[in-house]
Amino acid sequence: MDISSLLSTLGVDSAAVSGGELVVRSPIDGSFLGAVQASNAAVVAASIERAQAAHLKLREIPAPKRGELIRRFGDALRKHKAELGELVTIESGKVRQEGLGEIQEMIDICDFALGLSRQLYGLTIASERPQHRMMEQWHPLGPVAVITAFNFPVAVWAWNFALAVVCGDSVIWKPSEKTPITALSCQALFEQVLREHGGLPDHISQVVIGGRDIGQQLAAGPRLPLVSATGSCAMGRALAPVVAARFGRSLLELGGNNAMIVAPSADLELAVRAIVFSAVGTAGQRCTTLRRLIVHESMKDALLSRLCRAYAGIRIGSPLDADTLVGPLIDETAFKNFERALARAADGGGERVIGGERVREDTHPDAYYVRPAIVAMPEQNAVVREETFAPLLYALTYKDLDEAIQMHNGVTQGLASCIFTTDLREAELFLSARGSDCGIANVNIGPSGAEIGGAFGGEKATGGGRESGSDAWKIYMRRATNTINYGSTLPLAQGISFGD
Ligand code: NAD
Repeated sequence: MDISSLLSTLGVDSAAVSGGELVVRSPIDGSFLGAVQASNAAVVAASIERAQAAHLKLREIPAPKRGELIRRFGDALRKHKAELGELVTIESGKVRQEGLGEIQEMIDICDFALGLSRQLYGLTIASERPQHRMMEQWHPLGPVAVITAFNFPVAVWAWNFALAVVCGDSVIWKPSEKTPITALSCQALFEQVLREHGGLPDHISQVVIGGRDIGQQLAAGPRLPLVSATGSCAMGRALAPVVAARFGRSLLELGGNNAMIVAPSADLELAVRAIVFSAVGTAGQRCTTLRRLIVHESMKDALLSRLCRAYAGIRIGSPLDADTLVGPLIDETAFKNFERALARAADGGGERVIGGERVREDTHPDAYYVRPAIVAMPEQNAVVREETFAPLLYALTYKDLDEAIQMHNGVTQGLASCIFTTDLREAELFLSARGSDCGIANVNIGPSGAEIGGAFGGEKATGGGRESGSDAWKIYMRRATNTINYGSTLPLAQGISFGD
C-alpha cells in the first residue's frame, strides 16, 4: 500500500520510514508500509537529556501560553484530520469512521487542555494558626514517558501529551512497535506547529521507536518522574515495579474484561444496539470492548436470537470501505489467540451461538479477518476471566442481581462496565459501593465509547490510572502545600513550647 502522499502531506520525512529495521505492514492486506529506524539505548538516553532541558524551559512559560501551543496543535489536527485518520486506518486496521473518530478525540483533548491551561487550581485552606494562610500550588512535574498500545495508536498519546504540555511537562513517546508511522506523523505535525509558533523550546515532544526493551529503559529512567503506560496487564506487571523501584509515578491503563448485565426490565432494543457496537467495534480490539454478557435467565433466548440477527448483518471487510463495520485483527498472533480462546471455551462446555470463522483468507492470505463470535458459557471459567483481544463475546446467565454483580466483579480486571435496566433500584445498586468495582460504570449505555470530559481508567489489574478529563491532570504536576505566616509571632505546631 502506498502511503507516501499521505506522509508527505503530514510533513513526514520519507527517510524516517525507509531503510530501518522495524518493518511495518498493514493489517488490511499484510502489505509493506515502511521500514522504520528503531532507537537504541544511546538514542533513548539522549532523548531523556533533551526532554529534561525542554522541561526546564517549559516550566517557566505561563500555563495559558502553553495552552496556546496546544490550541494550535488542535488546529493542525483539524486541518489534517482526513489524512491522519486514513493513516490510522491503514496502520491499525480500524474502520474509517473509527480512524477519524480517533483524530477527533485528539482535537477534543486539545480543546479541553486549552481550557484547563487557565484552570490549574490549588485550594486555599483554613489554617488552625492565627494570621496564617495555607494554600496549594501545582507545579510542573518533569519529563513524562508515554508508552502506548497499537489499538489506539494516536489518541491515547494525545490524551497524555496535551495535558502534560499545559502542565509544563515535556513528553517522550514510545508508540507500539506495530504502529510507529502514525506516531512519526503526529510528531512531524507537532514540530511544524512548534516551528510556526516560535519562541518555545525544542524537544517538548520526542518519539522513540522500539519494543519492550525501550519501554523498560524509559521505566528505569530516573529523570522521568512519570511513566504513563497503556497496554496489557502483563506489560503493566513488568513495568510498574521498575518505576516503583526508583519511586517514580506510573499511570497504568491496562487490560479490561468488560461486562454488561441485562436485567429483566431492560429495553432490549437499546441493549442489542449497545452490545453490537461495543462487542464488535474495532474488531473487538478496544480496552473497553464488551467481553462478557451477563443476562437474566428469563431474557437469554430472546436476547441471543436478536443478537444473532444483528450479527448476521455485520459487514466484514476492508476498513477503507465506507460500509465496513468490522475490519481485520492486528496480526496473526491476535488471530491465534482468538482461535485458542474459542477452543478453550468449547472445552469448558461453551456453545458457539454464532461466528468465530476466519473470512477473506483466499483473497487476503496475509491478513486476519474473523466473524465476530458469541459463545454461551455454562459458567465464568478461566478463559472467560481472561482478556482475549478479539471480537469474542461470552454469554452467561444469572438468577438474582447479587449473583450477577458477584459474577461481574469476579475477574481481575476492572475497567468498564454497564447495566441495562429500567428499574431505578437496580441501576443505583449497580453504581453504588456494593455494585460494579470498575473505573467506568454506566446505565443503559455500553462500556465502550468514553467521552474525554470524564476521567478514564480502571481498577484492579487495569492498573488504577486515570487520564483525559476531570482532574486527571493532577498526575502530570506536583503539589506543594504552602503555609504563610503574616503575623509577628510563631505559634508552634502541636502546642509545643520551647520555654518562651
Ligand atoms: P502490549 O502490552 O503488547 O504493548 C503495549 C505497549 O507496551 C507497547 O508500546 C509495547 O512495546 C510496550 N511493552 C510491552 N511489554 C512491555 C514491557 N515488558 N516493558 C515495557 N514496555 C512494554 O499491548 P498491545 O497489544 O499493544 O495492546 C493491547 C492491550 O492494551 C490490551 O490488553 C488492551 O486492553 C490494552 N489497552 C488498554 C487501554 C486502557 O486505557 N486501559 C487502552 C488501550 C489498550
